[in-house]
Formats: sequence, structure tokens, C-alpha cells
Amino acid sequence: MAEHYDLLIRDGICVLPWGQEAIDVGVRDGRIKALGVPSSATAETVFDARGLHVLPGLIDPHVHFRDPGDKAVESIPTGSKGAVLGGLAAVFDMPNTSPSVVDADMVTWKQKYVEEVAWCDMGIYVGGTKTNIAALAGLECGCGVCGIKIFAGSSTGDLMVEDDEHLEKIMRSGRRRIAYHSEDEYRLQARKALFKAGDPYATHMEWRDEECAFLGTRRLMALARKTGRAAHILHVSTAQEFEYLKDYRDICTTEVLVNYLTQAAPDCYERLGGFAVMNPPIRGQRHMDAAWKAINEGMVDTIGSDHAPHSRAQKMLPWPSCASGLTGVQTLVPIMLNHVNAGRLSLNRMVDLMCAGPARVYGAVGKGRMAAGYDGDFTIVDMKKQRRIEESWIVSPSGWTPFAGMDITGWPISTIVRGTVVMRDDTVLGSPGGKLVKFAG
Ligand SMILES: [Zn+2]
Repeated sequence: MAEHYDLLIRDGICVLPWGQEAIDVGVRDGRIKALGVPSSATAETVFDARGLHVLPGLIDPHVHFRDPGDKAVESIPTGSKGAVLGGLAAVFDMPNTSPSVVDADMVTWKQKYVEEVAWCDMGIYVGGTKTNIAALAGLECGCGVCGIKIFAGSSTGDLMVEDDEHLEKIMRSGRRRIAYHSEDEYRLQARKALFKAGDPYATHMEWRDEECAFLGTRRLMALARKTGRAAHILHVSTAQEFEYLKDYRDICTTEVLVNYLTQAAPDCYERLGGFAVMNPPIRGQRHMDAAWKAINEGMVDTIGSDHAPHSRAQKMLPWPSCASGLTGVQTLVPIMLNHVNAGRLSLNRMVDLMCAGPARVYGAVGKGRMAAGYDGDFTIVDMKKQRRIEESWIVSPSGWTPFAGMDITGWPISTIVRGTVVMRDDTVLGSPGGKLVKFAG
């Protein structure tokens, strides 16, 4: 009898962990059952991927879906819809919501809610605070929890742990890798007085200067070394940190944001004003070059969008009142594919950064790799398709993107989550079927 599958992806070029191969993939019960399928095999759904590349389901390990919060700006239903439209099969969502995800009640609520409304699979961060330290070792092992997130410098929300004493206590409170927003809060506060309201938006990177980030990272690395607790530095933004962290690769992984690889000061602030303001700030060309060098030297483990929507009105306020954070979950994959086509990195390296990287850093189980037994998650892309990023395409209720007008070559055609086609040709299909990602630990 012929082999039968739920889904067969035929005639695509698959990006496997060991390289690209023209091979057919069979999925059954949500998992990859066969790499290499005879022509006699049948399936409920056959996806014709002729002329397309089949990638393992891409992961954005850094989004802020603002839920609970203001649904007019973003929510898990809208944010995850943007994710699958943009070619992402899974996202990991940050805890600085309103209220924040810092205790068992909120984790329980979010675990249930995600599986009711999300279009893609999701991991959940738990926020570490000065008052929940005793609970963190338990919370970090919750179902779907990708790890603890610490804001060592202030950003949106009220989660902050700025002092070494509490940071060390948190590092000694559990064992999984901790994700950090690394900026030195004392330096940030001290420098605030140097600037005045209404200064140009580019002032943002003078206020939160290179030393704010570098000092924050030096302090965190000293404590991580002292305690032996593994760290993940989110959104590394300076050349100095990349050089410094070469001596800490045994305990530290790193993330770069697509913005740092794509936009640079002063141009971004002149063109976009408050719509270029984020934390840590987008900096000058030297740091963009350093981020690309870091990617090519293997110093980067994950690429994030740091999708952090605010209303247009909030973004148009004069500096420093304008809210920090940019949308990006829907545009991450097209922009990275465009970088591949521009020759800045290989498609295999992009998949390493957006699949294997997040799976390795956070310990995701069954994700991040196209291999038998792994989840049937795929991002199917047309490397030749040319398209302009338009704000009308963005489904986030916030309604804007800092990449509007950018011409892209390479576009996600379909997103498949555990064997179900959830997006094809710009259309979201079926109903929300996202599940919590499983993590080892
Ligand atoms: Zn963030």
C-alpha cells in the first residue's frame, strides 16, 4: 500500500540542518514523518512547492503582544496573525504587559489564553522582579515558559531589576538561561538631565549611549561568571559588546534585532522621527557593521524583531515623551530574506539564526530543525518574489511599520504549523490553532 500522509510538500528545495536538498517532506499527526517520499505516496493535502524554498518554521523569540493591555494597539490574536502572515511559525512573547506576567496566576491565565486565540505556536517569558525571586525557580519550568526575562534597564512597563544584589539573587534562584535587557539604569538616569524635552529624536541614542549598554553587559557578565548562571543578552546594540562577549561564550548567547541590521543613525531618525525610537537605540553605521560582522563570526545566536507596538499618537509625541518600541513581527522574515538576496548572509545561516538558534538558546523541544520526528512547521518562501512593504498589509491594530516603502526581494508564501497550512498567499486559513511551545528543563 502507498504511504499516506496528512501533508506532503512536493518539489521544493528544503533547507535541512546539513544543507539544501530537493526532497519531498511527509507530515503525519503534526510531525515530520519522512524526508524523501516516493512519488506513489498520497496525502490529504499536497503542497506544490515547485520553485520555492521550504524552511523549517521560522521563530521570532522576541515579541511584545501587549496582552493584556490595550487591544487597540496589539493583542495575542492580532500579533500572532501578523506573525503567520509574515512567515513565522512560533513567537516567544515578553512579560511586560498590563498586568505583567510575573506570578503563577498570570502564567496560568496566559497558558490557557494562548491556546484559545493564537494563530502560531508561542513561548511565554516570565518577568523577574525584586519581589518574585523565591517563585522564579518554579515559574521558569511552567508549561510553555521559554525563560525568565529581566529588565536591568528601564523600558516600557514597570518591570525592573537594576541593582547587583537583586540580580545576583535572581541568578541564584533557578537554572535555566535568563534573557536580559542590558542597559545600566544608573547611567541612564544620571544622563537624563543632559537633555531637554523637544530635543531631536536622535538624542535618544545620545541619552542611552553606547556605554549604557556596554556597562550593563559588563555588570551582567561579572555576575553570570560569579554565579555560573547562563545568560542571553537580548538586542546587543554596540560593537563594544560583541567584542567583549567573545570571552563569555561559555555562559552567554546573544540576540541581534533586524532593525540594527537594516537601519542606522542619523538617517533613521531624520526619516522616521519617533518611529525610529526604541531601546536600546538604533545607532550609527559602525554598529550596524559590527552586528553584521558578529553574524558572520558566529557571535549571534538569534534574530528578533522586538515587535513592540505603540499607538501612532504615542510615537508622534516629542522626545523623550514619545514611546519607545517599534512594530516588526510581520516584516521580520521578508527583511531577512532581502538581506539574503543582497548577499549579506546565506539562506542556511538565516535558518540557523531563526530556527536552530532560538531552539538551542531556550531549549525548545521539537522545533528549529527540519528532521524526522520534529514538528511539521514550515515557512515556504519565494526567493525571487519582489514586493514593497506597505502599511496596508500590516494587521497590527497599531497600523504602522518603520519599514514602509522598503522594496524587498524574497517573500514568505506560506506558513505551516504542525502540519496545518495557516497562511497561504497572504490569506490566513482556518481558525487559531496555536499551542504552547515545549521547553526542556
Ligand atoms: Zn523587547
